[in-house]
Amino acid sequence: TVGCVARDAKGRFAAAISTGGTTITFYGRVGDVPMYGAGIFAGPKGSVACTGNGEDIVKHLVAKTTYDLLEKGLPAQEAVDRALAAFPERIDLGLVAIGPESTGGGCNYSAEKKAFVKDYRNQMAWSLAQ
Ligand code: ASP
Repeated sequence: TVGCVARDAKGRFAAAISTGGTTITFYGRVGDVPMYGAGIFAGPKGSVACTGNGEDIVKHLVAKTTYDLLEKGLPAQEAVDRALAAFPERIDLGLVAIGPESTGGGCNYSAEKKAFVKDYRNQMAWSLAQ
């Protein structure tokens, strides 16, 4: 999955995701990606995009649940961290979020994938500084 969250100069939010799906599933499976609120959500206070195990992301409505934390005023990284903490560790989940003042990203994957997210955070910090 490729996920993207953005805020424009007027403070409007958007999110986009694209996925190749996942292997060994039933024909006709619909994952979290096309379900608004599950793998993707955007509103007046921010936007969220997820990757990982679609079935579980749908059950927990991860994108909307994380957005609700942004709506309550939590910084994006704290919203992401709380979403990850609420998710059982053995289930793959990664997400990026942007709020009115901040960005966040994280995953409960392997150390290698975590290193990738750290790099992504640095890039986000860079683009915020521009
Ligand atoms: N979330 C996707 C799905 O379950 C898979 C992925 O993130 O790569 O369809």
